[in-house]
Amino acid sequence: MIIDAAGSFGNQRVCPGVTVVFSLHATKSLGAGEGGAVIGTQAVVDRIRRLANFGIEVSTGLVDEAGTNAKLSEYHAAVGLASLDMWETIKSERRALRARYLAALHAADLPIQLQALPENGVYPTFPVALAEGINSHWVIEKLTAAGIGTRRWYCPPLHEHKAFAAYDCAGALPVTASLGKRIVGIPFHLHLLDGAVDEIVELFGRILASAGQAA
Ligand SMILES: *Cc1c(COP(=O)(O)O)cnc(C)c1O
Repeated sequence: MIIDAAGSFGNQRVCPGVTVVFSLHATKSLGAGEGGAVIGTQAVVDRIRRLANFGIEVSTGLVDEAGTNAKLSEYHAAVGLASLDMWETIKSERRALRARYLAALHAADLPIQLQALPENGVYPTFPVALAEGINSHWVIEKLTAAGIGTRRWYCPPLHEHKAFAAYDCAGALPVTASLGKRIVGIPFHLHLLDGAVDEIVELFGRILASAGQAA
């Protein structure tokens, strides 16, 4: 079993014998810029090292299994180590930012849904599900026009992309389809200026109110 824990560093437990893969992309809680980390048995780790280095077995110089060039650069490794040194700070700042958003969103009582998540988690993103019937493209356009960057994920969902259309799919996935149309990621990084959370939530609220009237 391989756990794709790409965005879950700080939340996904690792235990002996189970392979867990974390992403260290710049957008994750623990970032190296690019690259990732695989936690697994020595055999798995040795194989990953070989495959990331064209498949070359260093002791013999032979390639028994073709790999690719997926080495982490020295530069990215250095950035990753520096991030790791700051991990305790990153963790508490991300938790504090999430708490600020939750308090402001709760006070504003917006027609949105948030994923129920453990409070002590360390999250890389802040996805918000808009109410059914609110046009997310319209909301995103308004936010963009006001200088607020947003992110969208899983829209369309993976199985609707041409490249993956031939793969098996576990049924019609109506919840996936519905969420894919409604999720908006609001700014969630540690360089937000003081007061930005309140401003973003206030503006978001005004836009959602006018979207409700427009609908
Ligand atoms: C970030 C992320 C990825 C991609 O990770 P890369 O390091 O860019 O390959 C894949 N899946 C999920 C769920 C992610 O959060």
